[in-house]
Amino acid sequence: MSAYDTNNIFAKILRGEIPSHRVYEDDATVAFMDVMPQAEGHVLVLPKTPSRNILDADASTLPSLIGTVQKVAIAAKEAFDADGVTIMQFNEAPAGQSVYHLHFHVIPRRDGIPLKP
Ligand code: 5GP
Repeated sequence: MSAYDTNNIFAKILRGEIPSHRVYEDDATVAFMDVMPQAEGHVLVLPKTPSRNILDADASTLPSLIGTVQKVAIAAKEAFDADGVTIMQFNEAPAGQSVYHLHFHVIPRRDGIPLKP
């Protein structure tokens, strides 16, 4: 597995070098809207610490991260009047990862509406 690249797009967003629509932030985590949402209200949740993905993450970062995932999932379901929430997380290219800073997708779901590809 490659090393963490400090110039990945989410590292630049975390440093404020690229704009994002932040919807939540605390000492350890950040959540912002996905620029190409697969459904209305698609949010990305990241730890502030530099992990490439869950395979190299320090286990101590995970409780706060999953706690933020839960908070954002509950808030997004309410805000977008959704019927459910899909939570996804990819590790390395064969698994679908395209940005190499650990993140969870939180996607509100409506009955009968599939995810956009
Ligand atoms: P992955 O496939 O790595 O799990 O997902 C990366 C996600 O980041 C994709 O859903 C993509 O739309 C999103 N993304 C890529 N570049 C940007 C960006 O510059 N800003 C935001 N907000 N999202 C991005």
